[in-house]
Amino acid sequence: MTKFNQNNIATCAVIGQPINHSLSPQIHQSFAQQCQININYHKISGDPDLFEQQVQQFFDEGGLGLNITLPFKERAFKLATNCSTRAQIAGAANTLWCNNAGQLHADNTDGLGLVYSLNRHIAKASKQNILLLGAGGAAKGVIQPLLDAGHQLTIANRSIEKLPLLQQQFPKISTSIFAKLEPIYDVIINATNTSLTKEILPIPTNILKSTLCIDMFYNLTQTTHFCQFAKKYDAKLQIDGLEMLVGQAAASFLIWHKVTVNPDHTLAKLQTTPRL
Ligand code: NDP
Repeated sequence: MTKFNQNNIATCAVIGQPINHSLSPQIHQSFAQQCQININYHKISGDPDLFEQQVQQFFDEGGLGLNITLPFKERAFKLATNCSTRAQIAGAANTLWCNNAGQLHADNTDGLGLVYSLNRHIAKASKQNILLLGAGGAAKGVIQPLLDAGHQLTIANRSIEKLPLLQQQFPKISTSIFAKLEPIYDVIINATNTSLTKEILPIPTNILKSTLCIDMFYNLTQTTHFCQFAKKYDAKLQIDGLEMLVGQAAASFLIWHKVTVNPDHTLAKLQTTPRL
């Protein structure tokens, strides 16, 4: 099974539902240009009834690497024969590839993307007191990388029954309910869906003052709902999930093509559109 077509172009793709909005093709093409390799990176509209077959078909047809986005990350993880520790901890995968024996490998690079974003805005090697809002797939993917970087981490989630399990899995974290959060954090990361649904998080607003706020959600043309909320309550800086997206893509690119790219250049190109 070859991973390149006759013009020596590697085929990669992202699969999700919905998928039209995805910036992954632009990002990966920009990386490929940077290191002068030829890739064909396309979008696949995931079918909830046929996801596993779609993945199989992609690799049967010689695909090199597949990114997975909502809502298939858990199914991608279950499908793989070999999963990285990062993917196992998250129970979800955003990066798939096949080895020469045809075995499916999975990794989760979301945490690396988040750490890339965070490191752009904090002093090098500084340890931050971080609050992570949410306990879904994206939150789980970033917990271990944040702990590995030496940060202190508190997790708060709407459904409090998820918190004891997380505490058991990650003994170094603290947990809290939204209402009891205190204004003690340097960094607040929104890993809930509230920027998508435009709901207000029921957190004490005084915790936002003077913090660095990172929303995992992104919108190329508009300031996200959480970033607007954070600004209103005097956060020091609000960053949306575009940086994280580019950072996780760079980590996938390295896995597939064995080339390290500088995400800053690609990010700068995407950030030329001013947010409203
Ligand atoms: P999940 O559906 O797995 O988790 C959703 C989380 O949001 C849960 O913790 C849920 O709480 C919480 N939530 C939903 N609605 C509310 C509400 N009204 N009030 C409070 N909490 C709420 O989603 P993901 O973890 O996969 O994704 C979360 C966000 O991260 C999305 O916006 C997604 O776009 C973004 N993301 C960005 C990436 C990037 O590269 N920039 C990569 C991956 C994700 P509960 O447990 O109570 O239901």
